[in-house]
Amino acid sequence: MHLPEGTKIVVASHNDGKLREFADLMGPFGLEAKSAREFGLPEPDETGTTFEENAYIKAHAAAKATGLPALSDDSGLMIDALQGAPGVYTANWAETPDGTRDFGVAMQRAEVAMQEVGAVEPRQRKGRFVAVICLASPDGEAEYFRGEAEGTLVWPPRGEKGFGYDPVFVPDGHTRTFGEMTAEEKHGWKPGQEEALSHRAKAFQKFARAKLGSA
Ligand code: IMP
Repeated sequence: MHLPEGTKIVVASHNDGKLREFADLMGPFGLEAKSAREFGLPEPDETGTTFEENAYIKAHAAAKATGLPALSDDSGLMIDALQGAPGVYTANWAETPDGTRDFGVAMQRAEVAMQEVGAVEPRQRKGRFVAVICLASPDGEAEYFRGEAEGTLVWPPRGEKGFGYDPVFVPDGHTRTFGEMTAEEKHGWKPGQEEALSHRAKAFQKFARAKLGSA
């Protein structure tokens, strides 16, 4: 699928943190990003067992409903000491009995699980954020771009920026959590620069190189 400048793309997400980051990343490329919410699209059930499957479910539903190309992101945190959990269930770990999401609860749950398996030293607390971006066309075609950011889980949470589990994740080579970084620092990348830092910016960089012929 070719995406000329000015192409309207639906960003198939209802997550405000992701939408903000996509707006930042797409801005320099002259892509007009419209969110799934602006089209009144419902949030599809994420019934897949891989990031790719869930990314496809979201992008395909949005492309089919709008007739426009759609970009989705399925992402999560994989903690080595927990055999890759919470993984594709990262958002579910934030669910509360009243049906809302609380990421303070989610971060605590991950911390308790790590304590239970004795993961207390930094070297025992390695993990990675993973993001899979799916670009889907209205006719069902789909392409995938994956980014991973390696790091260490810290406790207690630090920083008010970002979203989700950002306050407990220190990317390799850094001392501050994603929650203590500005959006620019977390992306770690602008078009024309070398290597992105966050999983989402890395996945987007691959997408931009393949589909937008730059970056
Ligand atoms: P999903 O892709 O909608 O299944 O949700 C992924 C979940 O992973 C989000 O709700 C966040 O909690 C978490 N997550 C994904 N990317 C990030 C990130 O960049 N920072 C912090 N948490 C993230």
